[in-house]
Amino acid sequence: MNSEIEELYQEVILDHSRRPRNFGELPDAAVRVHGDNPACGDEIHLAVRFDGDGGLEDIKFTGRGCAISQASASLMTMKLKGKSRTEVTEMLRAFHGLVTDETSETPGTLGDLRVMRGMRKFPQRVKCAMLPWRAVEQALEQGAGEATVSTEPG
Ligand code: ZN
Repeated sequence: MNSEIEELYQEVILDHSRRPRNFGELPDAAVRVHGDNPACGDEIHLAVRFDGDGGLEDIKFTGRGCAISQASASLMTMKLKGKSRTEVTEMLRAFHGLVTDETSETPGTLGDLRVMRGMRKFPQRVKCAMLPWRAVEQALEQGAGEATVSTEPG
């Protein structure tokens, strides 16, 4: 990747970490997932409301931690809001490939999420980038109520 693109990606990440989108409470959320990344000290509290077909009608988060984790959550919520369950699952798989697999093709549908591709060089950072995605995965699985997920086993 040339350095100009890398710089642009950095800017997007910084912008989202400073002014996170979809940040705040969602009073009528169906499910809340608290994600924890002890390796870095990141927290993401994700709240989701589903539509009649199980799609993500609304999604918001609060949290604290490094720029990568907060920017990843912000970018993710922008991308997933209004998406069907199938689309979310596909996006999750594509994003995981993007940040972990050199050989993975980057689907154009990922859009702005592509700024996270540099993370694959930094395994510790992958946990930061994946934290909100682990939370949304749990939210889909759970469907209702509250849950906690962690990037560390046990
Ligand atoms: Zn982090």
